Amino acid sequence: MSDSVTCPICGAPAVEIAYGYPSLELFDAADRGEVVLGGCVIGDFSPTHMCTNEGQHEFTP
Ligand SMILES: [Zn+2]
Repeated sequence: MSDSVTCPICGAPAVEIAYGYPSLELFDAADRGEVVLGGCVIGDFSPTHMCTNEGQHEFTP
C-alpha cells in the first residue's frame, strides 16, 4: 500500500477505500489516515480511492 495516488479532480493525495469488514490492521491504518473505511456495502459504482481534500472526491484511478 505504498503506491501514491493523486486525485484526478483536485490533485490532492488520495488514499485507498477499504470495503468489507475491516481488520484490526485496517482500523490502525485508518487511524493513520492511510485508508478510508468504505463499509460493507458495495454498490454498482464503487470507487477504490478517496482524496484527502475537503471535497473527498471518490474515484478509481
Ligand atoms: Zn479530490
